[in-house]
Amino acid sequence: MKDTLKHQGLRQQLVATIKAKGITNEKVIDAIGKIPRHLFMDSGFLGHAYQDKAFPIAADQTISQPYTVAFQTELLQVNPGDKVLEIGTGSGYQTAVLCELGAKVFSVERQHELYKKTSKFLPKLGYRPKKLIFGDGYIGLEDEAPFDGIIVTAGAPFVPKPLLSQLKIEGRLVIPVGEDVQIMTLFIRKGQKEFEQHEFGEFRFVPLLEDKN
Ligand code: SAH
Repeated sequence: MKDTLKHQGLRQQLVATIKAKGITNEKVIDAIGKIPRHLFMDSGFLGHAYQDKAFPIAADQTISQPYTVAFQTELLQVNPGDKVLEIGTGSGYQTAVLCELGAKVFSVERQHELYKKTSKFLPKLGYRPKKLIFGDGYIGLEDEAPFDGIIVTAGAPFVPKPLLSQLKIEGRLVIPVGEDVQIMTLFIRKGQKEFEQHEFGEFRFVPLLEDKN
């Protein structure tokens, strides 16, 4: 598990790319600049790790595109100590970004293989989410609710109601909604039943699937 000067150099180019695409939050940019993304991918794919592209990981899933990770994290507006729920742990890259921002992270993954792999891997890099859960993100995580922020990293055909109801007042849900193409959507909870809704253009994610596997 090496992070060489070459990796660090490539990472700075990636940082320049996401800035050029419009990411401005300094803490998010610092996190992307710090996290060794190549270690979240199989070693054969080293050359791809610092391109601004999604890439295949185990169990037919993908590590999200860095720009997308930065964009969603920026929308989430994380403050240190915030309780954040992530749906779709995957490689753990987004989880690591949330840890860098000082969030108390709870992350749910439905693929057992990925859940196991990432549970072992993140602590090796020094990242300690509060809890990684093998489960179905459609139901959220009632036991730990309410959350300051919830981030869904797979394409949701509809907005799962439990995720809205597990937000604090002023809490934010960032979720890509749609079947083939998703619209990045931000919900801000304003009251027991009141939510503000904002839309941020098209993205493509692997689908949010029901039940565990
Ligand atoms: N955040 C990840 C993105 C992985 S892709 C990263 O940075 O690498 C989306 C992930 O969501 C996949 O790992 C997939 O298995 C998972 N997923 C899909 N449906 C889910 C569900 N209902 N509950 C929890 N995880 C789910």
